[in-house]
Amino acid sequence: MRSHYCGQLNETLVDQTVTVCGWVHRRRDHGGVIFLDMRDRDGIAQFVVDPDTAEAFANADRSRNEYVLRITGSVRLRPEGTQNPDMPTGMIEVLSQEVEILNAAATPPFQLDDHGKVGEEVRLKHRYMDLRRPDMIDRLRLRSRISHSVRAFLEQQGFLDIETPVLTRATPEGARDYLVPSRTHPGEFFALPQSPQLFKQLLMVSGLDRYYQIAKCFRDEDLRADRQPEFTQIDIEASFIEESDIMGITESMIRQLFDEVLNVSLPEFPRMTWHDAMRRFGSDKPDLRIPLELVDVDDLMKDVNFKVFSGPANADDGRVAALKVPGGASLSRKAIDEYTDFVGIYGAKGLAWIKVNERAKGIEGLQSPIVKFMDGIIDDLLDRLDARDGDIIFFGADKAETVNEAIGALRVRLGADLELYNQDWAPLWVVDFPMFETDDKGRLSPLHHPFTAPACTPDEFRHDPANALSRAYDMVLNGTELGGGSIRIHDWQMQSTVLEILGIGEAEAREKFGFLLDALQYGAPPHGGLAFGLDRLVMLMTGANTIREVIAFPKTQSAACLMTDAPGEVTAEQLKDLNIRLRQKAKKAEDSSE
Ligand code: ASP
Repeated sequence: MRSHYCGQLNETLVDQTVTVCGWVHRRRDHGGVIFLDMRDRDGIAQFVVDPDTAEAFANADRSRNEYVLRITGSVRLRPEGTQNPDMPTGMIEVLSQEVEILNAAATPPFQLDDHGKVGEEVRLKHRYMDLRRPDMIDRLRLRSRISHSVRAFLEQQGFLDIETPVLTRATPEGARDYLVPSRTHPGEFFALPQSPQLFKQLLMVSGLDRYYQIAKCFRDEDLRADRQPEFTQIDIEASFIEESDIMGITESMIRQLFDEVLNVSLPEFPRMTWHDAMRRFGSDKPDLRIPLELVDVDDLMKDVNFKVFSGPANADDGRVAALKVPGGASLSRKAIDEYTDFVGIYGAKGLAWIKVNERAKGIEGLQSPIVKFMDGIIDDLLDRLDARDGDIIFFGADKAETVNEAIGALRVRLGADLELYNQDWAPLWVVDFPMFETDDKGRLSPLHHPFTAPACTPDEFRHDPANALSRAYDMVLNGTELGGGSIRIHDWQMQSTVLEILGIGEAEAREKFGFLLDALQYGAPPHGGLAFGLDRLVMLMTGANTIREVIAFPKTQSAACLMTDAPGEVTAEQLKDLNIRLRQKAKKAEDSSE
């Protein structure tokens, strides 16, 4: 139907006849001549229709925004003074001979140019209109290039693209399952996969050796953060490998991706232990673009006459950490109050601070509500932090977990507010994670998932599982976890032990993971892998603000689709087929029969 996309028209086509198909972006009637800005996925170009071509003119006259047209005409240079060098097609226009209306359009729910002013709800409800906007199209195009680059790299490295089931059994990745009732097995349910974890491991048992899949995963989580109930992973697994092999391959993959798609050459990926990351940055996904670090000062605070500090400094699970912000003494009282509220979100009960106005003047040169308690240690403190005139020092004192979360988050917030970034891209690997976390009741739960191998011998592991490290690794970029994975347990006895330590008894283990435990007994190779969150990767690479901006049809924070109105009710017949009776419906029926 067409010879060119609108966005492809330029000076090289002058005097040629072209045919485009697209949408009326804007129509201007200049008394006798009609100008149509025509838009398709490649861009916008200007078409001129004059009354000499009567039929074309009549159709252009009837057209409104978002009408679908097919136009044939000849390309010419725009008259002097009307050229627009900022537009790729801005030097030319098309003198139209034929204008065919392929379809009319109702008045759009919002002006595509004006989307900034319309709420996200309206955009999501009419997503097919929202996706007509060039910046949405550009992001989806980049997304497509990213998956293409990843596929090409992995294929070239001998990885096979293998699909795994969507109707399956639960895979524990720490979230709630989406369940699908079975009609043929009344009362039984499939779970949608939280990840293809177990299937990819089984493919290794089968000897497929190298697997990848761009896979949909489903997690029924509270969507407070920027998450989606269904999201996409670049899922990878390989056999006969160790950590360094798989980290090397995937690091090359990401490096090549950034080079190909963004023309960015990523710096070295340093490796940092989980323990160091928590200590220095209060986070297991530190943003290394921000040159601020948490510094331990527990030893100095043990004997100060200030319970808020001396308490945590002397407690086993406490921590007192300082965060120095060079030049931060100029922060206003109001800004500090805001940061105090901010750390409160993470459970911190306050935010102590010291402004270093003039260090040479000793205590006099400091400004702080707490400096009176620091007698005797202030010089050591300032020396340890290498504090200079003009700096501010913030303190976190609480349970180590709270300090890490609160001061870690403050560090990231200050980095953004004060524009402290000293590089564009800061990747790293975080390694040596603990196997488990311990909850208030002393119960262990896996930090990754229960198929991750411990880093110690089976005997050491059984002796002290709570303190075991795992063979897991996360790739982090600019404070975002891009991907994570591990070397897996390939010994069925070790797998049984881990399940047992997690409080999953033998019968339950057999019921839930019998197929895996069996498979591990039929010659399972050493194997491992990882998965990258594709949506998050695209978000970082496009600079989008939310994950919803890089997904064609995303769901809202409450896990609904505003466009299709999913989830929706189903008919009584469908429920009957599935052997399901709804509690609320049942109640209504009971009420009415009374
Ligand atoms: N299945 C893991 C996840 O979804 C990734 C992996 O261990 O490969 O986080």
